[in-house]
Amino acid sequence: MKNDGKGYFGKFGGSYTPEVLRVCLKGLRNSYRDISQDATFWQEFETLLTNYSSRPTPLTFADNLTRHLGGAQVYIKREDLNHTGSHKVNNVLGQGLLCKRMGKKRVIAETGAGQHGLATATMAAKFGFECTIYMGAKDVRRQRPNVFWMEKLGAEVIAVEEGSRTLKDAVNDAFRDWVNSFDDTHYVFGTACGPSPFPEMVAEFQSVIGKEARQQIMTATGQLPDKVYACVGGGSNALGIFSAFMDDQEVELVGVEAGGKGLDSDLHAARLSSVQGKPGVVQGYKSCFLQNDDGQMLDTHSIAAGLDYVGVSPILAHLSETRRVRFTAATDEQVLAAMETVIRHEGIVPALESAHAFAAALAEIPDMSPQQSVIINQSGRGDKDIFTIAEAFGDSKWQQFIKERADEY
Ligand SMILES: *Cc1c(COP(=O)(O)O)cnc(C)c1O
Repeated sequence: MKNDGKGYFGKFGGSYTPEVLRVCLKGLRNSYRDISQDATFWQEFETLLTNYSSRPTPLTFADNLTRHLGGAQVYIKREDLNHTGSHKVNNVLGQGLLCKRMGKKRVIAETGAGQHGLATATMAAKFGFECTIYMGAKDVRRQRPNVFWMEKLGAEVIAVEEGSRTLKDAVNDAFRDWVNSFDDTHYVFGTACGPSPFPEMVAEFQSVIGKEARQQIMTATGQLPDKVYACVGGGSNALGIFSAFMDDQEVELVGVEAGGKGLDSDLHAARLSSVQGKPGVVQGYKSCFLQNDDGQMLDTHSIAAGLDYVGVSPILAHLSETRRVRFTAATDEQVLAAMETVIRHEGIVPALESAHAFAAALAEIPDMSPQQSVIINQSGRGDKDIFTIAEAFGDSKWQQFIKERADEY
């Protein structure tokens, strides 16, 4: 997805930041422009993805699920098999190489659930960068396993005590750091949001997913898929897989947001598939944000921490407006049911985020024909979610295990 030269996709995107930050973003835009044309950079990126993150990831034919659903042929793009367990590493390795090119020695990042912080800390260990991760204090408490690993990997994790003490407060503090440290520091943004050039840059690093998937489905079936499903948090895994099919009008692209407790509750994160998502400018970019009638940001909810965000990629906001991508939402309840079906039939454990894409697909596939095929992007693996999933399923043996462990301390 190319922007209009000024960082806009239709009426969304751009860069709305204080003067001091403009200097940082301009420097980054220049460096990104330089590598865009540089074949050696992309060669190095591909080699790194191959040797460090086991790319290309497979496209798995889900034969059991296909039989069970009795509709289209089901293919799963296996981003869960990346190093660190999700697609996040694609973007992070790209920005790591860019950081090296820029001659910087330190990286910073924001993180909500901790997945992006973990991927960034991993990359920093590999490249020998100093690393600081900003995380809302509330999330630090909720996501201890990820915090543990980030620290073990050598990162400093800073618990942000401002505002609601979650992701958006972590973003603010990371920008604050960057303004004062730009000379030697790169800000590794985690998704296709934020001021230009972050949305287009992250989407480009993730486009490797779609390039592989397109070739793989052509090899497997000899034709393009009828539908491609991806979950949508900030939008990076969705843009990554959608990009390769953007010009194939016959391929329907479906983005699945967090429906939480339902779109008529106030507990969801459906920015593009609910009426509460409205255009606005927040954290440096123009997109759709969940707001009340006074333009106040709403609190979000999802069973999947990675989808629990008030904004969404400006590129996806544009693709929603032009109707190239259809947006829908899956509720927490539908997600758990989908999760169980996929685990039992395929022996594959999707992340709670990815299970949103499965939930929407599982509902539609039975109405399709066996001559048709779909790709579901499995953005990550679910074993990281064991605390949430075991609790959501109300597993009594798990509860007992947690109690006993706690008593031992
Ligand atoms: C972070 C995350 C997401 C959401 O981020 P996007 O930028 O929308 O892709 C989805 N799935 C997994 C496994 C994640 O870790």
